[in-house]
Amino acid sequence: MSITAPAPNQEAAVVEALVRRAQELIATHYRVERHQIGAVLLDHDGQYHEGVHMEAMVGRASSCAETAALANAVMASASDKLTYTVAVRHPKPSESDQTPRVVPPCGLCRELLLDYGPDIRVVLADDNCLHAVPLSELMPYKYVGTKWAHEQPTITQAMVQQ
Ligand SMILES: [Zn+2]
Repeated sequence: MSITAPAPNQEAAVVEALVRRAQELIATHYRVERHQIGAVLLDHDGQYHEGVHMEAMVGRASSCAETAALANAVMASASDKLTYTVAVRHPKPSESDQTPRVVPPCGLCRELLLDYGPDIRVVLADDNCLHAVPLSELMPYKYVGTKWAHEQPTITQAMVQQ
């Protein structure tokens, strides 16, 4: 059983606000070859948690915007009540259209976000048409280990179990 998805008209407004906020975030913090992706998480209380990706001189030392946004959610004690995630990519200066566009989370971020928000919905864009789907649909057969088996279930997990 999963949490009921919001009504489509309600979700459309949430999605549009999330994308607009992510676009403003990366427009403000974009730096060539340093910060190209901005991510925004939304929690049950309507609070946003933002992050930008950190490019490194050594590529594998880089970290994703979703990781930074999740860290900010942790700092706000909101990591167990996440509802939506979105990421946008700022175009390079050489690209003709300078509009930040929605990009899907990478595989690592799918794993990480689902560890904290098993019911989180992800904003996607198909031909510039925005929609949201359960992130778990993008990561079937997600890895589940025993590391956190002793912990209390998160709010969203408890809601799912009801
Ligand atoms: Zn990622």
